[in-house]
Amino acid sequence: MTPAPARAGDEPSRCLFVSDVHLDAVAGAAEAQFLHLLRTEAPQVDALYILGDLFESWVGDDTPAHQAVIDALAALSADGIGCFVLHGNRDFLLGSDFAQRSGCHLLPDPVVREFAGERVLLTHGDALCTDDHAYQELRTIVREPLWQQQFLALPLATRELLANEARAGSRTHTARTRPVIMDVNPGAVAAAFRATRADRIIHGHTHRPAVHETQIDGQPVHRIVLGAWYEQGSCVSYEAGRYQLRALPR
Ligand code: MN
Repeated sequence: MTPAPARAGDEPSRCLFVSDVHLDAVAGAAEAQFLHLLRTEAPQVDALYILGDLFESWVGDDTPAHQAVIDALAALSADGIGCFVLHGNRDFLLGSDFAQRSGCHLLPDPVVREFAGERVLLTHGDALCTDDHAYQELRTIVREPLWQQQFLALPLATRELLANEARAGSRTHTARTRPVIMDVNPGAVAAAFRATRADRIIHGHTHRPAVHETQIDGQPVHRIVLGAWYEQGSCVSYEAGRYQLRALPR
């Protein structure tokens, strides 16, 4: 059955959310599982939201990698499924050429969408980890348009080299930093709920899949955290006002 095309402005009644698929340059188990999701479950929904770090690394839209995934996304959007991508801290250089090739719409981070009359804040989640000062400083630098322009002007091989160095540096930082520092800051979460008047936040990045129920100024709110795809898949299925966080065993 072909789903009705998701037109702009339409509220989708069925959605899939994923984050942190972390697809590597070489095809592996995560890629096979993600492609399976794109070909089986994703065609049944109105919209697919990828909340950042689809790719483990992205040094520019001129990279030839990940063609199978890009083709599968393009096929979905050609079938009328709205495909939306937020930048993660790994793939923040996804640009308009990627969007065109994949049929995906790049959304700003954070962004508020309405589902069944509820305000839902979609974000990768790294901006909420305000206790990690070293990371936030780095984030500010690499999100500068001028920095990105200069980086993208470098030869592809140089960019790949620099990205590998950055990933090694990130691994060292992660190994040396206490886990609580790398989780979201409760104050930043509360501020995000208040600033956007959101009823719900869906994010990834921390690789701590969970549904957190809390209150903001006496109002019940939910924060759904998607898991990473390193050992198994993770997604949120949304249908008619209900959200289900699911682990997808491999
Ligand atoms: Mn991330």
